[in-house]
Amino acid sequence: MEKYQFGYGCMRLPVANADDPASFDYPLIEKLFDTYMDQGFTYFDAAYTYHGYHCEEAVKKALVERHPRDSFELATKLPLRDFKDAEDMERIFNEQLEHCGVDYFDYYLLHNMGTNIYDKCQKYDAFGFAEKKKAEGKIKYLGISFHDMPELLDEALKLMKDYDPDASAASWAFRFAASQEGVVRVLSGMNSMEQVMDNTATFRDFKPITEEELAIIDQVREIIEKNTPIPCAACSYCTHGCPKQIAIPQYFALYNSISRTTGSFSSQAVYYNNISLKHGKASDCIGCGQCEKACPQHLPIREYLKDVAAKFEAGSSFPTKK
Ligand code: SF4
Ligand code: SF4
Repeated sequence: MEKYQFGYGCMRLPVANADDPASFDYPLIEKLFDTYMDQGFTYFDAAYTYHGYHCEEAVKKALVERHPRDSFELATKLPLRDFKDAEDMERIFNEQLEHCGVDYFDYYLLHNMGTNIYDKCQKYDAFGFAEKKKAEGKIKYLGISFHDMPELLDEALKLMKDYDPDASAASWAFRFAASQEGVVRVLSGMNSMEQVMDNTATFRDFKPITEEELAIIDQVREIIEKNTPIPCAACSYCTHGCPKQIAIPQYFALYNSISRTTGSFSSQAVYYNNISLKHGKASDCIGCGQCEKACPQHLPIREYLKDVAAKFEAGSSFPTKK
């Protein structure tokens, strides 16, 4: 492989009870981790907040206590929304070492970095904190993280199946991502043996995406765009005159993106919350109509904003500590 590294994301480990994120199915997790490692891969991506704040404990039990420390690389993340001040970062970091049962992390990421959180990180010098931990030898590499999970429509999947019946949808996505210049590692949360075998096979014998395949991906993109509920062109003409500084195109993009996804975790809702900390929320619209006068697509922006508010303001899907 070894040009393209493939990591095991630990946000969706198998659980016995779907309503209890800490009800880990340890026999299966251990088998999945071992199989992944047997295929020659070593990178595990945990976080303080995953699995209702229990992910790191699962990694300790299924990985750290069962394999020599130098046989794997462990990444985890500083929860930027959770820490209160500089001392709190120290408390959380020490908890993380204990949760994971290690005395250093190979990778430590500032979790879910965004515009608003960046200010908080500056204020409490989260970057300096992480640098200090690195100098102490408790972190090997530093980074930041953010994520998004769009899923393809059935029609789009058929196009890919027709071209290559044996290739899984996931392998298209990973080969596309890993073929981009500058990408050195691609992660996947895996909760079944089928996924581990499929994904490790993709990376063991990695083939960069071809021009012909890129053309298929373009067709898939067109299909997805046709299934876009709000046909906003993201020109931003509408935002200049908005008295509430509502981030109209960004909200529409999130609404379109969430309309194409399934599953209980919504990164779009996290982004919505982040953006609305510095802009008006969709529900702040006073209906003045300035935006619609400026919109070259003649979109009923005020109506769409009601849909956006109903989708994103009914309740937050970002997990908070109990
Ligand atoms: S109608 Fe709403 S979104 Fe449009 S400019 Fe007025 S306040 Fe802003
Ligand atoms: S002016 Fe219309 S098309 Fe342009 S960003 Fe605003 S809503 Fe979208």
